Amino acid sequence: MSVLEIRDLHVTVETDQGTTPILNGIDLTIKTGETHAIMGPNGSGKSTLAYTIAGHPKYTVTQGTITFDGEDVLSMSVDERARAGVFLAMQYPVEIPGVTVTNFLRTAKTALDGEAPSIRQWTKDVKASMTNLRMDPKFAQRNVNEGFSGGEKKRHEILQLEVLKPKLAVLDETDSGLDVDALKIVSEGVNRAKEATNLGVLLITHYTRILRYIRPQFVHVVVKGKIVEEGGPELADRLEEEGYDRFLDPSAPIE
Ligand code: ADP
Ligand code: MG
Ligand code: MG
Repeated sequence: MSVLEIRDLHVTVETDQGTTPILNGIDLTIKTGETHAIMGPNGSGKSTLAYTIAGHPKYTVTQGTITFDGEDVLSMSVDERARAGVFLAMQYPVEIPGVTVTNFLRTAKTALDGEAPSIRQWTKDVKASMTNLRMDPKFAQRNVNEGFSGGEKKRHEILQLEVLKPKLAVLDETDSGLDVDALKIVSEGVNRAKEATNLGVLLITHYTRILRYIRPQFVHVVVKGKIVEEGGPELADRLEEEGYDRFLDPSAPIE
C-alpha cells in the first residue's frame, strides 16, 4: 500500500498583482485503492492542488508538507514524482509537436521503469488499452495532443494511465468536454486501472456527473483554497441537487 499525505498545504502563485495565496491549509490523505473526489466551484484552487502535487514550477508552497510513502514530494523534481508513481492528467493537456503517441508512451515508460519495456508485451498492452478505449489504431502515429479533440485528449490521458501504471493518479476535470458515451469509456478505463493495479485516484471535478461512473469513497469540497466539507458519496449526491450555493458568500462578486 502507498499513501500520499498532504498536511496544512499553503500555496501561492505569482500574478501581475503580486503574490496571491490560492491554497490556504489543505489536509488530505489518499491511499492506494481509494478514490477521493475533490469538488468545488470554479476558481477554488482545485487545479492548483493538482499542479502542486505534480510539481508545476508556477506554484510556490509556502507552508505545509506533501509526502508519498513518507518521502518528501516537495523536494522531488517532476520526473522523480512520476518515477515514485504519481501521475497527473491535466485539465488542459499540452501539445508535443513531432512526438507520436506511441513514441511518447514508450519513452515515458522507459523513463519510469529505468529500462525499455519488452517490445512484444508492450505492443500488446498498448493495443489492448487502445481497443478498450475505442481508439483508432492510427491514433498511435499522431503527434501528442496536436489537433486532438477534447475527447481524444482525455482518452489519451487514460491510455497513459493504463499503460504507465502509476500508483496514484490525479485526474483534473477528466470529465470536461466529454459526451456521455466518451465519459463512460474514459470512466471504464479509470475503473480498469483501479482494479488492475489498486490505483489510488484523486478525481478533481466541478460536476458530479463523472461520479456516477467512478464512485468515490471520499468527497472533499474545496472553497477558496480550503476544504470546507467532507463526506462519503452521499455528499456528491447532495451537491448534485444543491450545487455550491450554500458554500458561497452571497455578497461576493460573481466570477
Ligand atoms: P479551479 O481549478 O478550482 O477552477 P484554479 O486552481 O485553476 O481553480 O485557480 C484558483 C485561483 O488561482 C483562481 O483565482 C485562478 O485565477 C488563480 N490561479 C491559478 N493558477 C494561476 C496562475 N498560473 N496564474 C495566475 N493565477 C492563477
Ligand atoms: Mg477552473
Ligand atoms: Mg481547474
